Amino acid sequence: MIYNGIDFDTYFKNYPNEEGYFGKYGGVYVNDELKKAMAEITEAYFTICKSRKFIDELRRIRKEFQGRPTPISHLERLSNKLGNVQLYVKREDLNHTGAHKLNHCMGEALLAKYMGKKKLIAETGAGQHGVAIATAAAYFGLECDVYMGSVDIKKQAPNVARMKILGANVVEVTHGLATLKEAVDAAFEAYAKDYENSIYCIGSVVGPHPFPMMVRDFQSVVGFEAREQFVEMTGELPDAVVACVGGGSNSAGFFAGFLNDPVDIYGIEPLGRGTKMGDHAASLQYGTEGVMHGFNSIMLKDENGDPAPVYSVASGLDYPSSGPEHAFLHELGRVKYDVIGDDDTIDAFFTLSRLEGIIPAIESSHAVAYGMKLAKQMGKGSVLINLSGRGDKDMDYIIENYGIR
Ligand SMILES: *Cc1c(COP(=O)(O)O)cnc(C)c1O
Repeated sequence: MIYNGIDFDTYFKNYPNEEGYFGKYGGVYVNDELKKAMAEITEAYFTICKSRKFIDELRRIRKEFQGRPTPISHLERLSNKLGNVQLYVKREDLNHTGAHKLNHCMGEALLAKYMGKKKLIAETGAGQHGVAIATAAAYFGLECDVYMGSVDIKKQAPNVARMKILGANVVEVTHGLATLKEAVDAAFEAYAKDYENSIYCIGSVVGPHPFPMMVRDFQSVVGFEAREQFVEMTGELPDAVVACVGGGSNSAGFFAGFLNDPVDIYGIEPLGRGTKMGDHAASLQYGTEGVMHGFNSIMLKDENGDPAPVYSVASGLDYPSSGPEHAFLHELGRVKYDVIGDDDTIDAFFTLSRLEGIIPAIESSHAVAYGMKLAKQMGKGSVLINLSGRGDKDMDYIIENYGIR
């Protein structure tokens, strides 16, 4: 399919290009030491990932350890309540550890093993990526250092405990605001000093090349599975697919399965409390071009041009940018990016739980809320939503802030 001059039959061969660009977005904006490390990972990825042995091993791990393929569920009661449009969810909440994140963490850790690395280095904010990478490290018997701001360590005690139980070393970062940004900087610094022995595992389709490409590729299992399952289940393609966009990994992987099809694709960003800077994290909607964390993309900047403070009710979505591929697909118009605020998100959280027996992650509830809105607008047809994770991790927050509805 050709869309706005881009041939999606050969899209994955051409995007990103050899320098890691999706159009003008992406690249490798790091110091020379880290450039060397990134080049090493890129080269290893291109050779190892084509080997039969690697592909077979990753396939076996997905089946026997992660529980893939995850199913698609038809939301019959919710669909009936909203009208005639049929809603479906791809159940990444049933992937081991309860979200899509393990898909790329197992891939990154397997690559580390093939490259002969001994240690995984990662940063984490809310702790979800930290838990997934600690899980992968335990599975492969690798060391694991997870950098985390002291503010986040206090807020996310259960995830800190999980990482430690899994054998990871949680490294406290105390400087600056002591949250995600400082944790990223500290993790990069540690990696630059020790890249011969270790590999950096980024938590989304962000950071310098090859990470936006590699994480998308590892996550694309979600989209390719979903396409096949949906066609088998209904005999046709969905009319629309929807996923939430933080850094953009669950959406990038999910969309990969449908880019070359006559399917409307929607990426949903968190509008939080409203459109004022600091009240949301809708970077593609309200941001401008800039460089952060080693890549060029669309980002929310403060008056000094630094990453702006952002907010979302979902801690996994409060990142001031999104991956370069999303910036590209946004500019191209192939994916429509829109927003959903906190209130609609929380309504969707309770509605899906009550009507379908699925408690979604608050991140995923953004996509559910938008799917519900689309269903009312479309009047007929089908919508497939990527349910990126389960809501168990959000229970304390929901009870404290919203009670039980
Ligand atoms: C981390 C997380 C997200 C956001 O990350 P992306 O890279 O945008 O996918 C979404 N949903 C869940 C359940 C998460 O844990």
